[in-house]
Amino acid sequence: MNKYEMVINGEVLNSKTYKEVKNPASTTSTVGLAPVASSINLHQAVQSAHNAFQQWNPSEDSARVAACHDIATVISNNAEELAQLITAEQGKPLNGFGSRFEVNGCVQWAKHMASTSIESKVLEDSADSFIEQRRTGMGVVASITPWNWPLLLGVAHILPAIRTGNTVVIKPSPYTPLSTLRLVQLMNDVLPKGVVNVLSGGDDLGAELTKHELIKKIVFTGSVATGKKVMASASAKITPITLELGGNDAGIVLPGSDISSFIERLFWGAMMNSGQTCAALKRLYVHEKDYGNVCNALVDLCLRNPVGDGQLETSTLGPLQNQVQYEKVISLVDDAHAEGANILCGGKALNGENYFYPPTIVAEAVPGMRIVDEEQFGPALPVIRYQNLEDVIAEANNTEFGLCASVWGQEESLLREVANKLEAGTVYINKHSDIAPHVPLGGIKSSGLGVCFGQEGLDSYTAIKIFNSAR
Ligand code: NAD
Repeated sequence: MNKYEMVINGEVLNSKTYKEVKNPASTTSTVGLAPVASSINLHQAVQSAHNAFQQWNPSEDSARVAACHDIATVISNNAEELAQLITAEQGKPLNGFGSRFEVNGCVQWAKHMASTSIESKVLEDSADSFIEQRRTGMGVVASITPWNWPLLLGVAHILPAIRTGNTVVIKPSPYTPLSTLRLVQLMNDVLPKGVVNVLSGGDDLGAELTKHELIKKIVFTGSVATGKKVMASASAKITPITLELGGNDAGIVLPGSDISSFIERLFWGAMMNSGQTCAALKRLYVHEKDYGNVCNALVDLCLRNPVGDGQLETSTLGPLQNQVQYEKVISLVDDAHAEGANILCGGKALNGENYFYPPTIVAEAVPGMRIVDEEQFGPALPVIRYQNLEDVIAEANNTEFGLCASVWGQEESLLREVANKLEAGTVYINKHSDIAPHVPLGGIKSSGLGVCFGQEGLDSYTAIKIFNSAR
């Protein structure tokens, strides 16, 4: 069985303890063994990153640009191995919006980071003073990632951190640690020792990492509940944090829209990665005039995209990643059904030792049903009927979440008007679930704190340093 290892100070480190990582498409098979870090390992990793920071932060900008290019190359050269590993541990298909897409996203992300610049500016150039604002790395960044897009989110945390002079200790989700362990091993082929370190272990390891005294910045992607704990932990030393948390993204289809022009994008906006995407469409509001047509078109797409083992080249949708998520989706759909929703397709887990759940359309869903009010994070889309546009905008906004939202249709001025009124960090028009390294992403309300990606995301890994000189 393949054993994966932590990398600390550029060295592969054997662990005393290992844990099996299961394949969600076949829960009786083990993908590999992941090390379980001890508190001593954690301290070694943070200390090594702290030591590396002393050389990395003052290094030439060109050296850090070159490192981003080298990382892009090393990921690209090992793309198929990484994609196979993601599919095996996470479940998403190799093809479509699956693991090859994810690995290619990592390559593009790293290349984009190489093209960024860290801005300094002159604030005053007068007879009295020359005042300049520069940006500097902060120190050791603790990166904590979830299980849905393990490699892409790891790259999206690590690359801006090291681009701006920081060093990193990353802790992936205990459900999907293997691809990140391998990624960091590959990165260490092209980086100075200690710049990027990886630990694996349980939730307790994440908590311990956020409390370590040498951590100078925390970047966390995961659930709201854990985000709150990370924030509490960070408050002890006022450690800067970026929190990218959950969402319950609403989409509104404008009355009388030409559905055929966008229905496929809408379907994938909800179902990509079997709905296990933070910025996925999670509840859809459709005017009563179009309700039947939209539901029928969605059912048709569900039937054309059955779930299957991600390792089959033909699969476009894979299983749910873990048992907790699987049971959550089952219970949300069952509850909605019991409360009067009409399950148009799917709605029943597949038999066997796996977490397969088919794409499901929950019609006649209404607010108050858990599947409408909560983040389902699965391939079950509630479709809610509406009569009045103003009412439905208020309904879409009536949530603790504010990650993304979308509006669909053709009437440009109305699309803009509705987009203006939707409360979310990102409002998509005729698309959903589209992220890019040059576009800031951040949630409002409980969906997060700060932004990642874009220039603002890059800046969030820096401290402003003012050089204020007398003339
Ligand atoms: P999770 O919060 O359970 O776990 C995320 C990570 O936090 C894991 O590595 C976990 O081990 C670690 N962790 C757990 N307890 C911790 C603690 N007390 N202190 C520090 N770390 C701790 O989330 P998940 O179930 O892995 O991921 C799904 C959630 O992530 C969904 O809510 C989804 O919307 C969200 N998500 C958000 C984004 C975004 O960009 N906004 C992206 C992907 C996923």
